[in-house]
Amino acid sequence: MRLNAHLANLPGNYLFAEIARRVKEYEAAAPRRLIHLGIGDVTQPLAPAIVQALVECAREMGTADGFRGYPPDQGHPFLRQAIIDADYAPLGVALDADEVFVSDGAKTDTSALPELLAADARVAITDPVYPAYIDANAMAGRLGRHANGAWTKLVTLPCSPDNGFAPEPPSTPVDLLYLCYPNNPTGTVLTRERLARFVDHARQTGTLILFDAAYKAYVTDPSIPRSIYQIEGAENIAIECCSFSKSAGFTGMRCAYTVIPRALQAELEGRRVSLNALWKRRIASRQNGVSYPVQRAAAAALSPVGQAQVAEQIRVYMDNARRIVTALEGAGLQVHGGINAPYVWLRAPHGRDSWQFFDLLLHQAQVVGTPGSGFGPSGEGYFRLTAFNTPDNTQEALERMLAVL
Ligand code: PLP
Repeated sequence: MRLNAHLANLPGNYLFAEIARRVKEYEAAAPRRLIHLGIGDVTQPLAPAIVQALVECAREMGTADGFRGYPPDQGHPFLRQAIIDADYAPLGVALDADEVFVSDGAKTDTSALPELLAADARVAITDPVYPAYIDANAMAGRLGRHANGAWTKLVTLPCSPDNGFAPEPPSTPVDLLYLCYPNNPTGTVLTRERLARFVDHARQTGTLILFDAAYKAYVTDPSIPRSIYQIEGAENIAIECCSFSKSAGFTGMRCAYTVIPRALQAELEGRRVSLNALWKRRIASRQNGVSYPVQRAAAAALSPVGQAQVAEQIRVYMDNARRIVTALEGAGLQVHGGINAPYVWLRAPHGRDSWQFFDLLLHQAQVVGTPGSGFGPSGEGYFRLTAFNTPDNTQEALERMLAVL
């Protein structure tokens, strides 16, 4: 047997393993309970409309008429239509149900979609970045070797306050560019103009953009695009991945979707090939879809009643984010994000590096966050806090932090 060396040689998940190690080592002797503002997981329970759909569905599945077996590969038509009606029609984006693919997660899709491209496709990411994009392409052997903390074949676009966390498009040719806005980890967004720059560049260069819109429900500013398809021509070069995880508390339920417009085509051996058709072919071989009760629950989250309930949950998280931003800015810190995203990205004060600031907060405030350096070299000196804890815990964490900053 010959193993996949790309997988075997993948660096360990240093960031979260190291956080867990430091927390465990400290926790037993901690003078008070720890408060976690590092989690990227939601905390509020499922909204009533979602629970009701699950209960009704369970009963339905227990009847001869209501029982359903394998779902359609691409997702039940009722959910694909609900997605179009609730998430795209209000933005003026026209889609066909055939262009929507339901899946069990945006992590699954953002990791698997590069299979559409050549085995040696060149990949670009922003830095700092959601690490799953890198790992999936590294496992597939696209990124070359990992040496001195960098992948030899990965193109990285550094993000910093100097470029407003919105880098220029890659200057070297790539096949695939990952964009995630609202961004994890920086909590920043792209204006329509900046997003249009990426779309125009991709059209000119034949680059596929994989737009991860997992946090689009957190966009409060109406001038900020929620979908890349609000930019003219994006349907020719972009795939969009969305998720119910952070918009409706589905991190444990597992439901997401990906849009691949039929207009998205590329040249192969002298013929035009539809990426939508390729993905359809691929999923027919690779998966058996998402369970019927979960799809019903997702549709319930998109119903008018469900939408109002999940909007209230998002409001609670965004109140937390606002409170974090206000408190830390008030303490004189350089703070980014947190306005249209549930993440706050702050500069560690007094020239500390990311891990030094982590240790300071852990040992003096008993607050756990995430060192920015774990998201890429440009994250060094930064720190990520999330708005997903309860309002009470968030408030207490802030009071503790302000006392030691
Ligand atoms: N994309 C980004 C940018 C994320 O931060 C996350 C989760 O934290 C995901 C995707 C995962 O989404 P899902 O739960 O749908 O797999």
